[in-house]
Amino acid sequence: MPSIRTIAVIGAGQMGGGIAQLCAQSGFPVVLLDVGDEILNTAITRISGGLEGRVAKGRMGEAEAAAAFARISIGTDPSIIDGVDLVIEAATESEAVKRAVFAALAAHLQPATLIVTTTSSLSVTNLAAATDRPSKFMGMHFLNPALAVPLVELVRGLATDEETFAAIRGLARQLGKTTVVAEDVPAFLVNRTLLVMINEAVTTLHKGIGTARSIDAALTLGAGHSMGPLELADLIGLDTCLIGLQALYEKLAHGKYRPCPLLVKHVEAGWLGRKTGRGFYDYSKSLGSPAQRFPIPWSGGEQPGPVAGDL
Ligand code: NAD
Repeated sequence: MPSIRTIAVIGAGQMGGGIAQLCAQSGFPVVLLDVGDEILNTAITRISGGLEGRVAKGRMGEAEAAAAFARISIGTDPSIIDGVDLVIEAATESEAVKRAVFAALAAHLQPATLIVTTTSSLSVTNLAAATDRPSKFMGMHFLNPALAVPLVELVRGLATDEETFAAIRGLARQLGKTTVVAEDVPAFLVNRTLLVMINEAVTTLHKGIGTARSIDAALTLGAGHSMGPLELADLIGLDTCLIGLQALYEKLAHGKYRPCPLLVKHVEAGWLGRKTGRGFYDYSKSLGSPAQRFPIPWSGGEQPGPVAGDL
């Protein structure tokens, strides 16, 4: 099985920064590549703050955090990836961008270097075919935030060999993740299921069957979810949800993926969720944590907050 000792992360955005920190925390030397110094500096500041936060919460010693930080180097020149065992591609979600990334990196890869893509919606097989090594290529779909979400979806392309798959599954375990295997289909397992549930919750609201609070209470108190679907949509970003549903609808041509008009309207209005201060909820007022609003009797651990009244 190919051994993974050094990692390059391509793209220092939302996902790439978190993945780089996770790898460094887990003991891997990491090079983080992006197109601009400003983006890289923002990412490294965020990583430094993230490590400091872990120290403050007692999850990590100061020396351990300093060692993790020292394992990360940044740069804009593809030559910084020379000699790495694994490339984690976390660049902008665009086939053209990802193809350009693979072309730019090709001359700097060792014959044995593995490549994974973190794409949420593109075909892994198609991206693999844009490289010189489809058998050493697969999907490794982290969820956002990559540091905190315990699951990674593993996606084989048509040509992925079993040694590559075993090495990447082993890496995911070293990063402390639980893995599920998904076929190379649009949105894989998590988003394919989640987006349909969110769309159905928005449709339920649109039809006046319930209010946002009652729908979310129904799914938290009634079905044991830790967060209601509308609140979750606000957290993900309603624009992101809409793009995902549109991609599913386009690729799978089934009416169940057609985005609810109310979701489209929210995006048109710029009500994108938490990031814009308004989505299905108004974040200019403090709503408290989901557990406080809709305490789940069997969730244990947390002190339940005030029980919500009749909804
Ligand atoms: P992002 O826009 O936050 O970051 C993308 C980064 O890629 C940017 O910093 C950009 O400058 C960089 N980039 C673009 N072209 C590049 C190039 N040629 N070389 C190097 N870097 C380049 O995007 P993101 O949300 O971090 O998403 C990255 C990947 O992760 C996408 O494939 C996305 O589908 C996937 N993903 C995203 C989420 C999410 O919730 N955001 C969740 C799971 C997976």
